[in-house]
Amino acid sequence: MYIKRLVLVFLLVLAPLAAMASAPGVHPVSPEKGLKMLTEGNLRFALGQSTHPNTSFSRRLLTTTEGQAPFATVIACSDSRVPVEILFDQGVGDLFVIKVAGNVADTDEIGSAEYGVDHLGTPVLMVLGHTYCGAVTAVTTGAEVHGSIPALVDNIVPAVEKARHEHPDADTSELIVKAIEANIWQAIEDLLGKSHAIADRAKDGRVVVVGAVYDILTGKVNILGAHPRQTELLGGVTPPAHADAAMHAEPAKDVAVHAEPAHAEPAHAEPADAAHAEAAVEKATAEGHSETAEAPSSGGFGFFSFIVFVLLLIGAVFVLDKKILNPDQD
Ligand SMILES: [Zn+2]
Repeated sequence: MYIKRLVLVFLLVLAPLAAMASAPGVHPVSPEKGLKMLTEGNLRFALGQSTHPNTSFSRRLLTTTEGQAPFATVIACSDSRVPVEILFDQGVGDLFVIKVAGNVADTDEIGSAEYGVDHLGTPVLMVLGHTYCGAVTAVTTGAEVHGSIPALVDNIVPAVEKARHEHPDADTSELIVKAIEANIWQAIEDLLGKSHAIADRAKDGRVVVVGAVYDILTGKVNILGAHPRQTELLGGVTPPAHADAAMHAEPAKDVAVHAEPAHAEPAHAEPADAAHAEAAVEKATAEGHSETAEAPSSGGFGFFSFIVFVLLLIGAVFVLDKKILNPDQD
């Protein structure tokens, strides 16, 4: 009797622990891999080869039961032509997106970004501006705005002034392009300057903070990299090289496929380039999609395998109890 109880306790306590330990769960993604998943997804989208990953019921079930584990926090403009999940070819639970006109980083946006970066632990924080941004254009051209909009565009004013100061000879359209980029850096400056949590994670490389511009015509995202004065903004601390390398991923042999979307020619690319890009995306799709699916599906398998394992265990214990350890009671 004593031995039987001991065996039961042993199985009931240790087996689930073993199952939990063997369950892969949601894999953490490195900053390099996070950026790679974004660039590869955008390349698929820009070439009309989106795979629409992580949109099934099983994905919704997994992210409901296990919670969300997005791999990037993205601050983007509210502009309807900037659909973040679509343009990065990502799905449910992949991106923590903050959309606000002019992709500014004011109090609410910084708080939301902190939630994504510090609470959910996303390894990438991206400020995504875009071409033909109405908010930046309005400020650059001095358009009259009403209601609550002045308080919003106030965040863009310093960027436009900076662009105007640095490019005194630029015409309006050139100035808008420069202001769009300056506005991205302004948002990153606000994020790093006002959020200790984000700055701390950027300092030790847990999060890579990058600016990027989305071309609403070609569909391509040009990742600009880290803020030009990042070290200064982080109080003299330069983030680890691995994060820096990820941001400035030039087309070295093994990363050529992944770095290309950021630097690839727009729609009017030469046929040779287009063919090369097509080949690249096929490789990227084959590699990248399996990687994208890896984290969520393995997590889902872990959860369900755990449930099945426990049910089997209970059955086994029941049979053991009835048939082997105590056969006389039948
Ligand atoms: Zn915009």
